[in-house]
Order: sequence, then C-alpha cells, then structure tokens
Amino acid sequence: MTILKSESSVCTNYIGGEWVSSPEGDLIENINPATGELVCKIQSSTSEDVKAAVLSAEEARKEWNGLTGAERGKFLYAIASKLEERKEEIAESATLEMGKTYPETVGEVQRAIDIFKYYAGEGVRSVGDVVPSTAKNALLYTTRTPIGTVAVITPWNFPIAIPAWKIAPALIYGNTVVFKPAQEAPLTATKLVECMEAAGLPKGVINLVHGKGSVVGPILTESKGINGISFTGSNAVGKSIGKSAFENGIKFQLEMGGKNPIIILEDADLDLAVDATLSGGMKSTGQKCTATSKVIVHEGIYNEFKIKLLEKVKTLQVGNGLDSDSWLGPCASERQMKTVLSYIEKGKSEGADLIFGGNRIDHGEFASGFYVEPAVFENVDSKMTIAREEIFGPVIALMKVSNYEEAIEYANDTSFGLSASVFTKNIGNILQFVRDIEVGLVRVNSETAGVEYQVPFGGMKESSSHSREQGQAAIEFYTSVKTVFIQE
Ligand code: NAP
Ligand code: MG
Repeated sequence: MTILKSESSVCTNYIGGEWVSSPEGDLIENINPATGELVCKIQSSTSEDVKAAVLSAEEARKEWNGLTGAERGKFLYAIASKLEERKEEIAESATLEMGKTYPETVGEVQRAIDIFKYYAGEGVRSVGDVVPSTAKNALLYTTRTPIGTVAVITPWNFPIAIPAWKIAPALIYGNTVVFKPAQEAPLTATKLVECMEAAGLPKGVINLVHGKGSVVGPILTESKGINGISFTGSNAVGKSIGKSAFENGIKFQLEMGGKNPIIILEDADLDLAVDATLSGGMKSTGQKCTATSKVIVHEGIYNEFKIKLLEKVKTLQVGNGLDSDSWLGPCASERQMKTVLSYIEKGKSEGADLIFGGNRIDHGEFASGFYVEPAVFENVDSKMTIAREEIFGPVIALMKVSNYEEAIEYANDTSFGLSASVFTKNIGNILQFVRDIEVGLVRVNSETAGVEYQVPFGGMKESSSHSREQGQAAIEFYTSVKTVFIQE
C-alpha cells in the first residue's frame, strides 16, 4: 500500500516522461471528505507548466502515430494489467480523496481496466469504408487520422473511469494527451498515470498537469498546440470551454450536468422501483451526472410507493466510505456539502415538504467530515429550484401525477437531457417512453444511473455538446475522416 499520508506528500506533474514539480506554483491541499484530514498536496501549475506539457505532447505525436494500431493496442493492454495489479490500492485512494464507498471505487477501477482492454482491441478494427466511385477505374474510400494533441479535463466524481474513457480512445487512435484532473481527485489520477508509465508508454504521449481549472483550463483552450478538448464537468465551466475552443479552432466535446427523472407508473413492480430510486438517487451520495433526481409517481400507487421508500431510506447507512457497513459516504468536499445543504433550504423555503433527512451529520466521528443525511422531498412543483437545477447530492424530489402524459411532461420539463428511466410492465408505455423522453440514456425497469463502456454515452439538450463518448462512438471525436479518391 503506497497511499500518501504525510504532509510532505505532493502529487507532481508528469511531463515528457518525467515527474516534475512546478517551479513557481504553490501547493494545493487535497482533503479527505470523510475526516477533514489531509490526503496529499498537489502542484498548483502555472502557464509555464501547461505550455511545457503541451509541447511535450506535440513532440511525441509523430512517433506515437507512426506505430500501428496493434502496437498502440499492446500498450493499452499493458496499462490494463498495471491497473489490475494495483486495483485495491487505487480504489482506496479514490475513496480517501473523494469519499465514495470502497466497493464503488473498486468497481470503478475495474471499469477503467475494462475500458483500456476494450480500446486496445480498437487498434485493429475498421477505420473506414470503400465506396463505389462514379469515375471509372478509381478507388474511393474513407480513412481516419488522429486529431493531434488532446486536452482531457475531468471531474472528481468518477476519478478514474472518466479519465480512462477519454484517454484510452485518444491514445488508440494515435493522439497524444495533456490530462488535467479535478483538484479533488489528483491522487487517483496520479496513480493512473503511474500505471501508464509502468506500461512503458513512450515519453510525452501522456502528460499530467495538476492545479486549478481556472488557471490551467484557459491556457489549454487557447493553446495552438491543442487540437481537441474533451471535458466532463459542470455546465458553467463546459460552456466557457466550448466558447473559447470554438474561437481558437479547437475541436471540443462537452459532457455536463443532468436532472434525471424516474417515472413510476401504476403497474410498476414497486419493490424494484424503490430500490432503483434509492440506488440511482443516493449511491455515490447522489454525485453522479446520471443520478436520479425527480421521482415522478402515478397517484394510484403514490402512497404505497412512498411508504416503502421511507421504510428503506431509513436503513441506508451513512459513513466513511472505507467502513464496510457504509452504504453512502460524505459529499466530496466541504463546498459540495454546503451547496447541497443550501438546495435543501431552498426546497423548504419554496414550499416543498421535506419528509426525510436533509440535515448535516456532524456528531461524534462525523464532526470533521462533510456528511448529509439522504433527503426526500414531496409536493415538489416543476417550477421549484430543486426540480430544475442539478443538486449533485443525496436529495430526491417526489412528484405525483395522474397519468402518463403528465409524467412525461414533468420528466421533460428541464434544460438537461442526460438519463431517465420508467418503471412499467406495459410494452406500449415502454415504447412510447423511448420515443417521448428527451435524453441520451434511456433506461427501463432500471435506475437512471448505469453506463456501459461499449455503447455510446452522452446527453441531449444542455447536458452535452451533442457528441457521444465511449463504445464505437469515441472514434468520431478522436479522429478526423479523410475521403480519398485515387484514379488508376
Ligand atoms: P467542474 O467544476 O466543472 O470541474 C470539472 C473540471 O474542469 C475540473 O478538472 C476543474 O478543475 C476544471 N475546470 C474548472 N474551471 C475551469 C476552466 N475555467 N477551464 C477549464 N477547466 C476548468 O465540475 P465538477 O464539480 O468537478 O464535477 C461535477 C459536474 O460534472 C456535475 O455538473 C456533473 O453533472 C458533471 N458530470 C457530468 C458527467 C457526464 O458524463 N455528463 C459525468 C460526471 C460528472 P478544478 O478541479 O481545478 O476546479
Ligand atoms: Mg478531496
């Protein structure tokens, strides 16, 4: 176990194959949200550090892209096996720095392993089509070329899966990477890059720059050496990145927030629906972009559903993510906890009824951590803030409806469009829901959260810049199509 615990432990940048400190930058503290203790410190990188990382990635491009896809694939398989060797240790680091429970972070590291293996195989799959030409004796086909150097900017809530689902496809298609992880999850990111180094990845192919997004981000989005930016995070930051990237001619991909509804119709299996509501709404302390937020329930089964939900929500164990009996951990940071508590206050002041939880837990061992009780509201109106804005905490809002049409209207009444689910046994209702719901991830008789790496992932409306990540869809962002005509 090599978890950094001492005050002197500092996560440094990784540039041109070397672990380097920022000569000018200050250090930033990375805090364990379960205890308030220091996990490690990180570099607060300056523009010079970022420029050095970009230059190193540019210099590595030719050699990396000169390899065959199969050769690059071997590096990705090696990264997967290095991650496998350190799976439990990396998961523990993730829990320490962002609070999610250990079984969830183990699952997440496994997901990263699977992603690297999946994209390793992409190195030998089709990259184009041969199309009959209108000219005689001519060959007309498409092929693909890497976009160049890609900046990968990631949030803290999936500290290894999201970096993996961006970096793995970037690399397999021949791009080099400058990776800026979230300040709240730098240790997990560092360990991912350590595994890439241990896998023998050539110098400069992956570069890691820690620090403040507000400093590092704008340098990347204005850099002549950056050809693409893949971002996951909040809408406010995503929009500013998109504007800047567009002005500077940089290809961009933005995956942002959600306000995800679950609809429970009269014929639903209520026990399944209760479990899915709690798992989707409260697991990871509600800090998933696909977390269940609006729970839209048919009036015919509303009371029965509510009673079952309240019985179960009382049993959810809040605690340190490293304790095996914790079902949900703390909010990832003090700032996140304050945001969640302020949304709960807003819900109350705008007239919704808080029927369970919603207080900060700060007694005994919880005192220095950032814990909030799971919260359930009812009598929530579509106009209320808690029905409109992304909370990113363990808070769900029950909304009663009298028919399917009203349910779908409530579900779509949001500027977001990431994920949604319906509980019903009626195939007609299921197919109608698939047609009506304005989201990128549609789930039936299952929770709103649940992403598989081999299929496209992304949102509609303001949840995304309308591209898709993961699966075969990733090739669209990380490559450009070349149409080739050859006359014999
Ligand atoms: P965030 O504050 O937007 O931060 C995301 C990343 O952007 C961090 O690395 C951050 O660095 C960086 N950043 C901050 N300011 C920047 C700037 N001006 N230019 C460039 N980069 C900048 O989001 P978060 O709080 O970490 O994550 C939560 C959000 O992510 C939620 O809205 C959630 O819905 C969304 N999310 C979406 C998906 C999806 O796939 N749709 C998945 C997971 C999460 P710092 O850490 O230094 O601030
Ligand atoms: Mg932290």
